[in-house]
Amino acid sequence: MADPAVDFATLPLSPPVLANLRQLGYLQMTPVQAASLPVALGGNDLIAQAKTGSGKTAAFALSLLARLEARRFAVQSLVLCPTRELADQVTTEIRRLARAEENVKVVTLCGGVALRGQLSSLAHGAHVVVGTPGRILDHLQRGSLNLGSLNTLVLDEADRMLDMGFLDDIAAVARQCPKERQTLLFSATYPEGITRLAAQFMQSPQQITVQAQH
Ligand code: ADP
Ligand code: MG
Repeated sequence: MADPAVDFATLPLSPPVLANLRQLGYLQMTPVQAASLPVALGGNDLIAQAKTGSGKTAAFALSLLARLEARRFAVQSLVLCPTRELADQVTTEIRRLARAEENVKVVTLCGGVALRGQLSSLAHGAHVVVGTPGRILDHLQRGSLNLGSLNTLVLDEADRMLDMGFLDDIAAVARQCPKERQTLLFSATYPEGITRLAAQFMQSPQQITVQAQH
């Protein structure tokens, strides 16, 4: 029998979502998922640190999808990523995890990509936006993206975003998000800057660290 500590079925997830996880071959939670998902699904702000490849994407994706109302045509979650490549990976994973649900629209907005296609995707409606901070800010300034209905802000690979100098852009984006929101921060390492980032954008975050297993 599955260990309840790592069994997805112990989480408040719908039967279709659980069935989709089994279909994807996600038979049990990874350690970072087991530590993060109860906190994230409970609505708390969270700082989670675990090494690359540990399953951090599903740890935030399942939570933001659980809160998403597909019948509301508004951006309800935003995931900030350091690079276009990582944003594309996150988009792919969110779409796989969202397959069980009706028509969830995930739009990727990164720099180095023509604006025209992005503007058209946004005009057709997006529930989840994944992108790099500079381009997200650009869309906010143009008025092509509105975060007034946002309930979840995710800072993915926060350590790398800090290294790449995105702090000011992240701050400008966060200022346009509703104050009443959940903020989830994921990182492979925990440099000192993360604490400052958290103090600026998060409300009493719970902190979890998954040590690398040798
Ligand atoms: P990280 O963001 O921590 O680097 P990812 O979210 O990219 O890690 O996940 C790494 C890989 O593990 C992906 O291929 C993903 O599909 C897979 N994965 C995630 N969670 C599970 C799970 N519970 N069971 C099996 N595979 C998983
Ligand atoms: Mg990741």
